[in-house]
Amino acid sequence: VIALGQPQRSVTTTCAYCGVGCSLKAELQGEKVIRMEPDTAGGANHGHACVKGRFAWGYATHADRITTPMIRKSIRGPWREVSWEEAIAYTASEFKRLQTQYGAESIGSITSSRCTNEETYLVQKLTRTAFGTNNVDTCARVCHSPTGYGLKQTLGESAGTQDFDSVMEADVILLIGANPTDGHPVFASRMKQRLRQGAKLIVADPRAIDLVDTPHVRAAHHLKLLPGTNVALVNALAHVIVSEGLVDEAFVAGRCEAEAFAKWKTFIADPRHAPEATEAVTGVPAKEMRAAARLYATARNGAIYYGLGVTEHSQGSTMVMGIANLAMATGNIGRPGVGVNPLRGQNNVQGSCDMGSFPHELPGYRHVSDDLTRKLFESAWGVPLSNEPGLRIPNMFDAAIAGSFKGLYVQGEDIAQSDPDTQHVTAAMEALECLVVQDLFLNETAKFAHVFLPGASFLEKDGTFTNAERRISRIRKVMRPLATYADWEVTQMLANALGYPMHYAHPSEIMDEIARLTPTFHGVSYARLDRLGSIQWPCNEAHPEGTPTMHVEEFVRGKGRFILTEYVASEERVNRRFPLLLTTGRILSQYNVGAQTRRTANTVWHPEDILELHPADAEDRGIRDGDWVGVQSRAGETVLRAKISERMQPGVVYTTFHWPGSGANVVTTENSDWATNCPEYKVTAIQVSRVEQP
Ligand code: SF4
Repeated sequence: VIALGQPQRSVTTTCAYCGVGCSLKAELQGEKVIRMEPDTAGGANHGHACVKGRFAWGYATHADRITTPMIRKSIRGPWREVSWEEAIAYTASEFKRLQTQYGAESIGSITSSRCTNEETYLVQKLTRTAFGTNNVDTCARVCHSPTGYGLKQTLGESAGTQDFDSVMEADVILLIGANPTDGHPVFASRMKQRLRQGAKLIVADPRAIDLVDTPHVRAAHHLKLLPGTNVALVNALAHVIVSEGLVDEAFVAGRCEAEAFAKWKTFIADPRHAPEATEAVTGVPAKEMRAAARLYATARNGAIYYGLGVTEHSQGSTMVMGIANLAMATGNIGRPGVGVNPLRGQNNVQGSCDMGSFPHELPGYRHVSDDLTRKLFESAWGVPLSNEPGLRIPNMFDAAIAGSFKGLYVQGEDIAQSDPDTQHVTAAMEALECLVVQDLFLNETAKFAHVFLPGASFLEKDGTFTNAERRISRIRKVMRPLATYADWEVTQMLANALGYPMHYAHPSEIMDEIARLTPTFHGVSYARLDRLGSIQWPCNEAHPEGTPTMHVEEFVRGKGRFILTEYVASEERVNRRFPLLLTTGRILSQYNVGAQTRRTANTVWHPEDILELHPADAEDRGIRDGDWVGVQSRAGETVLRAKISERMQPGVVYTTFHWPGSGANVVTTENSDWATNCPEYKVTAIQVSRVEQP
């Protein structure tokens, strides 16, 4: 239901959904939000918003909200509503018990990209100080952790290189494994605007996404590769660039490590990387790969944008480095219109990584083994810190099942729905002695929780989010927290109850501490954010108003580093039992596990997850459009409704993951990226058959 009427006041804030990070005005009558209007002054959106953002308030006051803390002795037992004092005291006593009984390494935390920078900073601080361990990880583990790794290795900074406006100066856009129309709608509109002006588009995706062929926009090339063959494809493109003399030699000589480039050039020139040698692997005709490589390499400005179709693979990090190699080889780095641009899925993926939510990195991507960094934080936080990386999320699950990991604090994440191989995740949850879930709703993970701490939506608190272009934007309190406290206040209460003092009066004080301790944030403050509207980090003495384009004069690491990217086939392959490859993605009206969008007025447009398959695969199996189909993989099985679609290629099927119970992650496997453990959501061998309505 769309609320109408004249607003009495409005509060400028930031959308809590995708990584575009649109600035929105929440319009209110009294204490009631009646509309969300896009902010014309928004640096990321310039007055635009998509259907998700325009409906972004409904879930905040939904009847499903839990606003009273609850505890229970057993996950099979009933919940008991308790006071905040009792909930915090009980949680602290349980974590202290586990610390004493099993050691500090038996407990840990998971932060959320849906929470603010200040909140994720506090959770990792709580974990490293009061818990006494580096066992803290973020949900970015399961989406863009390969981006952080790959871009740091090659360019020196774990972030995208450009601002969104940069796309308006691109002449050729290479879009890999991303569907901005559904996942990043406002940026997609900007991209379409540029394409209508004449820029050329190359799409690399197993599925014919909307941008391949829509009114007024048609891709010059659709490289319809098979899932899991990204690295073979990027190597083939690089091979063409090297073998046809399309390398920007001046750029490479001036800006990149000579020895690493020479090794890479020899590696990539090998005939095994030629398009003709790899077309049987990728499924893309060699002449298409050659033409696409020439188009990108000869563009005045060539820009690469990519999404989870790049990262969520067993070679996710390798592919990110392959993309960076491509941009460096063609000199497409360091000015508007070019660059390597990850499209982050969630509103604060970039921020949760920046804030030190990784088990091996303190805020600002500094390794826990670095003595100088550790001393800086030890001095500021007043406790010794471990120099050993902690457990990643999948390691936490494994350790829980093995019996060495006992207690977990999860803020704002539904790991039971969002993480792969659901059976393994739920077994881990069941093995924990104390699972604390802090969330708006009793989500799938809360089914295994011993303590439920009510969370606050983005409308109920102050803070900041950092979007995919490193833009830090304020969120502002629009209404009082329904559960009394903002999430950062709850974390602070827990720290105090555990004996580690925290006394922040406002999130701005947390940001001041972040700025003091993090060189790329030295110039960030709420006062400056209010003055400028938003700031793209690095923001410091050298760049007091932020940095839209990175790596301009030199790379953050000094010289850019080419890295060899050998293609290794996924372990997940089709066979007689599982003859189809499943890949996953989003739809426009829903956001991730759907906890928020399923509880807003836009839900009705996509009331269930569906399985898209090619007409030939459907015919082989006697499946008609709308039939129920059983989906089996070696990990598990589920039932979905079929949609027959020419967007698919034969042998490849596709589903979304927005509804609990439809079970995309019941069938995804434990395979993950070799460097970061990012799950291989995008490649699962399955069988599909028609079934009766479940
Ligand atoms: Fe903008 Fe993304 Fe929110 Fe849509 S969902 S309004 S594109 S931030």
